[in-house]
Amino acid sequence: MAPRLRVLLPLLLLAMSACVRNPATGKRMLSLVSQNDEISLGKQGAQDVRQSIGLVDDAKVQQYVSAVGLPMAKRSERPELPWSVQAVEDPVVNAFALPGGPVFVTRGLLTHLNSEAELASVLGHEIGHITARHSVEQLSKAQLAQVGLVVGSVLSEDVAKFGGLATVGLQLLFLKHGRDDERQADELGFRYMLEAGYDVREAADVFVTLGRVGESSGGGSLPSWLATHPNPEDRVETARARAAKANVDFSRLKQGREEYLAMLQGMAYGEDPRQGFFQGSRFLHPGLRFQLTFPQGWKTANQTQAVLAVSPKEDAILGLAPAGDIAPEEALRTFLSQQGIQPLSAAAEGYPRGSAYFQAQTEQGVIRGVTTFFRHAGATLQLLGYTVAEQLPAYDDAFRATFTSFGELTDPAALNMQPARIELVKLDAPMTVREFHQRYPSTIPLEEVALINGVQPGDSLPAGHTVKRVTGGVKPSR
Ligand SMILES: [Zn+2]
Repeated sequence: MAPRLRVLLPLLLLAMSACVRNPATGKRMLSLVSQNDEISLGKQGAQDVRQSIGLVDDAKVQQYVSAVGLPMAKRSERPELPWSVQAVEDPVVNAFALPGGPVFVTRGLLTHLNSEAELASVLGHEIGHITARHSVEQLSKAQLAQVGLVVGSVLSEDVAKFGGLATVGLQLLFLKHGRDDERQADELGFRYMLEAGYDVREAADVFVTLGRVGESSGGGSLPSWLATHPNPEDRVETARARAAKANVDFSRLKQGREEYLAMLQGMAYGEDPRQGFFQGSRFLHPGLRFQLTFPQGWKTANQTQAVLAVSPKEDAILGLAPAGDIAPEEALRTFLSQQGIQPLSAAAEGYPRGSAYFQAQTEQGVIRGVTTFFRHAGATLQLLGYTVAEQLPAYDDAFRATFTSFGELTDPAALNMQPARIELVKLDAPMTVREFHQRYPSTIPLEEVALINGVQPGDSLPAGHTVKRVTGGVKPSR
């Protein structure tokens, strides 16, 4: 990955403080980021998102979310922005907006919604964050901290990606909106979906579902909706009241339940094991045909850019990441010759050939570690372990054990793993959700079946109703 964090530096240094009028709210605001900077920041961020998280690989899904989101964006206060609306390949339930136009919704959120109007309310809310320049305002406030981060990244993105320091796009995703921003985005989203002809009563249902999903982010690469969108009090009630006050003939508004559900047919549900999964401390990657064992008791994460493990005391990190299309020897040379990194003289004994110890100066002090680059399945990969300088002897055995555990994955059961998928059932008779689950079992529990259908286990469903179940897939055992 290119050193994207550094992109912010020239932007922020060049930014002049200027008082501009907020396009969506009409309020005057202090802004340090011009519209051009806002757009280029968002473009850069969106590129990071597409490269590191990836898009849902299904043209029909992408067309659907664009067709719902773009008309609302084009009728907003900022039709001139380069808007885009895309679905990202992540099981976490979330949606997010980058400055200047890019809107993303996760596969996880799509599988939890039940109508086009619900999707419109989510996208309208995110469009509202962009038209009201919420992220840009936050950037202005956070700019000094950001500059600090950028200078700190002199240590290079090679190490940064192992430390969880993300690229510009991912940094922006971790910006948490304030409650006032949330309320305002809800209001704007409500207006956009109403103007686009969607049934605004569905907005409240989305907040109920998001509340039920809770704060568990499921170990994915993104924070969850609740982590980035704090729940203003009475959000559900406010949405209901807002809909009740709208002076419209609801029978003329679109819900779009059947076409929305049809779009979900066959969509992967939950983690996709082909992207790699953990069995205890062992990581298996069927797509890239390798396995790797981390130390027992370390906290692990399968991020899109790297697989990571952090020691229980959080003072050491081990990780594996793609290193680009470059010969291992050259990759190691480049890594060690970066500013701030010094090779250490000791040979890395017992490690794979070509491993080297290094020392690096970071914002948090001096770190020491060991790294190696090697070819696997036509790609160059990097293994890296590092800790605060004086702890290297204590962690050396753990680092070595993980480095030497890397191997080809040959287990056919693991290699052939498929994700669970959404399957639609059209009811031939009325039944409760509990009866549905008995008659059409899912590989997820009853409560979760009820949740993704936006109902409770005891609720009755009419004949002719289309209901989601989840079939297939193997729950990776932990
Ligand atoms: Zn929000």
